[in-house]
Amino acid sequence: MNLKLTISAVALTTVMAMGVARAQQPVVGVSWSNFQEERWKTDEAAIKKALEAAGAKYISADAQSSAAKQLSDVEALIAQGATSLIILAQDSDAIAPAITKAQNEGIPVVGYDRLIENPYAYYITFDNKEVGRLQAAEVMKIKPKGNYIFIKGSAADPNADFLFSGQMEVLKPAIDKGDIKNVGEAYSDSWLPANAQRNAEQFLTANDNKVDAVVASNDGTAGGAIAALAAQGLAGSVPVSGQDADFAALNRIALGTQTVSVWKDSRELGQRAAEIALELAKGTDPKAVEGTTTFTGGPKKVPMNSTFLKPVPITKDNLDVIIEAGWVPKATVCQGV
Ligand code: BGC
Repeated sequence: MNLKLTISAVALTTVMAMGVARAQQPVVGVSWSNFQEERWKTDEAAIKKALEAAGAKYISADAQSSAAKQLSDVEALIAQGATSLIILAQDSDAIAPAITKAQNEGIPVVGYDRLIENPYAYYITFDNKEVGRLQAAEVMKIKPKGNYIFIKGSAADPNADFLFSGQMEVLKPAIDKGDIKNVGEAYSDSWLPANAQRNAEQFLTANDNKVDAVVASNDGTAGGAIAALAAQGLAGSVPVSGQDADFAALNRIALGTQTVSVWKDSRELGQRAAEIALELAKGTDPKAVEGTTTFTGGPKKVPMNSTFLKPVPITKDNLDVIIEAGWVPKATVCQGV
């Protein structure tokens, strides 16, 4: 046998094997809708960490609150070789062509945090209705009666309505009795704090400042509403809800201008989503993914393979829980207190 030939044949096989290994490295493309929101940075870190641990590559794009940009972002992620996609949808309906494209190319999609009501997408989130219940319950503990305003999320995000329906579930008996009056309710376009602030200002004006409680759907919108209250000298005397455990919100809770934030440990959500994205790319049946349940609570009642994580309310009484969990430094929470 020709020794030279044998060696080069081995070398060739090795090079080919390396090439195959490289081609098979999983690539997870993450499409963010509005990366400026504080929480998504924590989600991203968790996704990256889990992918790194699995030897997979992370690529991403931020749609900057544009549903149109998100469609081209997803196309670009596919063109860059994504073998699975994780999508935080800016608009649950407008994202449809991107899901069709991924499906046609056999690329699994994980709908991240927000519902993409298409059976091809896997759905992972926190129990958003429960988040709404927790928000309303904490505000109602402070003001069981009076004029309530509702600073809702983006109308294009199904979470906004899940949250509101959870809030209403808790408040309805008191509304029916006449103890609580809904004196203003509006979506905050793209979840932007500035839009939330404008809505809160309008409700304050329309009600001669007679607003007793603010049910805001996240910490960003809570910040906007609190700025509107502060301008009228009402910050601190009117309970306000939020969610996400943003650092500024935790500080406001310590200072007494915000009543509750709902903590959704996105370190856990990010990790699970990354793991699921990799499993699906390997061909695992979504139903066989550990912890999968069927969710039919979307507007179109489409049965979705889903995973739900549990939210935790944070008030002045349990700020220690979130500090001890390593989410936030104590000095940040207590600044100025
Ligand atoms: C998420 C919230 C977030 C909001 C705005 C919602 O879909 O569940 O955690 O604050 O979007 O980005």
